[in-house]
Amino acid sequence: MTTTPQDLAGAVLTIDLVALKDNWRLLSKRAGAAECGAAVKGNAYGLGIEPVALALWEAGCRAYFVARPKEGEELRVILPEATIYVLDGLFAGQAEFYAKLNLCPALISIEEAREWASFGRAYGRKLPCALHVDTGINRLGFSKPEFDALLDDAFTMEGLNVSLLMSHLACADDPPHPLNEKQAEMFAALRGRLPGVKASLANSSGIFLGDSFTHDLVRPGIALYGGNPTPGSPNPMRAVAHLEGAVMQVRNVKPGETVGYGATWEAQRPSRIAVLGAGYKDGVPRALSSKQVDGPAQVFINGRRCPVIGRVSMDMLAADITGLMPHSVVRGTRAEILGSNILIDEAASWAGTISYELLTRLGSRYARLYSGLESDGST
Ligand SMILES: *Cc1c(COP(=O)(O)O)cnc(C)c1O
Repeated sequence: MTTTPQDLAGAVLTIDLVALKDNWRLLSKRAGAAECGAAVKGNAYGLGIEPVALALWEAGCRAYFVARPKEGEELRVILPEATIYVLDGLFAGQAEFYAKLNLCPALISIEEAREWASFGRAYGRKLPCALHVDTGINRLGFSKPEFDALLDDAFTMEGLNVSLLMSHLACADDPPHPLNEKQAEMFAALRGRLPGVKASLANSSGIFLGDSFTHDLVRPGIALYGGNPTPGSPNPMRAVAHLEGAVMQVRNVKPGETVGYGATWEAQRPSRIAVLGAGYKDGVPRALSSKQVDGPAQVFINGRRCPVIGRVSMDMLAADITGLMPHSVVRGTRAEILGSNILIDEAASWAGTISYELLTRLGSRYARLYSGLESDGST
């Protein structure tokens, strides 16, 4: 009998690259005339930069956003022709590193702009860059007075090849929030001062806020990976990350007996418990544990939702499968922990966090499979 990685791992993470590409196409369509890029920082939100970037390139994506220059270096090897923006800006003294790899820093201050311009002069070439203006999130970027000062600094401006003006929304996932309109208006005014330069404002949720947010280029991240860009409404995106845990043991528990560390869950009736090979080492948040009987967290087994019971431990978690047909769950049965039934936003909210954190914290111990890879023709 042959042995595959998934036979040995306990938990299996399958990344559906066909769904990823469908998500990019849907966002691209929603963005109308704007170009659709992709935020692939953080190892493509934990899902693997290489297969994700190659799949997005195949779908037609040409503009990529990473956070760190190190991530840009990694991506440049994978996609030699892509436009790569580094969102964290220009790291001090590293202009040559960016230039050699053709990375576009999203400059956030006059200091960075001067460093990039003066490096370009020494290099003999105006190097492309983005200018990141802050319109209200107060994280990274030029404040309005700083932006004014940059535009007044003719020598620095002359040394820059500005290919993009960008800003970032603070509350895009909350459409009625007044800061959205405020940021959109301020951004529109600022872009008016750099005629002919492309502009980018929207992240995933921003794409769904309307035409005044999409400008020339959109930068979705989480929605590509299956997160809901329209919280409170049904998720238009396809699930990309599918995490399954294999049942290691099924046990019967009598009323009054407890399950797991701390004995936090007590059977109220004769119960059947499935123990799955996925724990917090695998990235299943320990916060999915519940002190209440039948707490909110669930896994999906044989077509039914079953409550997670007791504490999630390092290597395993337990689910109450009393409601399922006896003998329908056996050693090796796979249970969905994340996927098309248990959506990442739902699981994240049970754990008191957001889909972004859930994905970026997925562990490395399970078998990781990519479905829909072009190179090996598998589906
Ligand atoms: C992470 C990030 C994005 C993507 O945001 P999502 O909410 O994941 O779509 C876009 N722009 C900037 C500046 C970011 O930091």
